[in-house]
Amino acid sequence: MITRNVEVIVPPKEPHYVGDGFRVHNFIPSAYRLDMKRMDPFIMMDYNSKFYFPPSETPRGVGVHPHRGFETVTIAYKGKVAHHDSSGGGGIIAEGDVQWMTAASGVLHKEYHEENFSKQGGDFQMVQLWVNLPATYKMSKPKYQGISHENMEKVALPDNSGIVEVIAGSYQNAKGSATTFSPLHLLNARLNKSGKANFDFPKSYNTALLVIEGSIKINGTEQVPTDHFALFENNGTAFNIEALENAVVLILSGEPLNEPIATHGPFVMNTKQEIIQAIDDFNNGKFGTLND
Ligand code: MN
Repeated sequence: MITRNVEVIVPPKEPHYVGDGFRVHNFIPSAYRLDMKRMDPFIMMDYNSKFYFPPSETPRGVGVHPHRGFETVTIAYKGKVAHHDSSGGGGIIAEGDVQWMTAASGVLHKEYHEENFSKQGGDFQMVQLWVNLPATYKMSKPKYQGISHENMEKVALPDNSGIVEVIAGSYQNAKGSATTFSPLHLLNARLNKSGKANFDFPKSYNTALLVIEGSIKINGTEQVPTDHFALFENNGTAFNIEALENAVVLILSGEPLNEPIATHGPFVMNTKQEIIQAIDDFNNGKFGTLND
């Protein structure tokens, strides 16, 4: 077991709005050293740090838009999101829940603050992560995996350190709730003050974490404050974190796909030709229909 060192700690960039309902700091791919190649298979991460939205009769959010070629993973820490898509599907992602949407060959959807949350207003905190699909699965059938907080696999840590929620992949002997198309781990560590957790992922896996609440120390040396992102080197496998106060930490680690990436907004494919095809298909209504 060789220690995996921190490569860089990345502070949140100035936030921008996605639609009018998501006030996000982009980490992947626009932050220093967090481009799609380096973070492969994680190609996008927007983080709505905790932000109070005042009551609104009209739910804030982002209108109808397409996705093709990857998966969107929405992790709700505070507040509620409602979504609707062109297949007639829809649902609510509430606090603690995760929605794993495989856009694959293509969906049209819209994402809004859930109606009652919107009317009451409140703190809103979310992560949206895009996970790239291997070329063979980019044009497969879209699907959803809704993972409620209640049903999420959880591992209790020793010494009252807290718990690790296994969203996907595994932690110790626990298997994650979501199935994935390439090997990856997505975990939420909810630690009590002074709580510790150990992680061990193959060296080649691109590995990072985001501190959602509180602050932590990595490997006993690197301090990471709230809303900061830490990228690990690929020089070892194991690292540990310690909560300096009650903390919530999102941990991601994935085997790189090492395939060419061609991207245009909400389309992430392997070649420019496939991007042109995606734009064409979108313009020709092949993603279905959905009213605003
Ligand atoms: Mn979307």
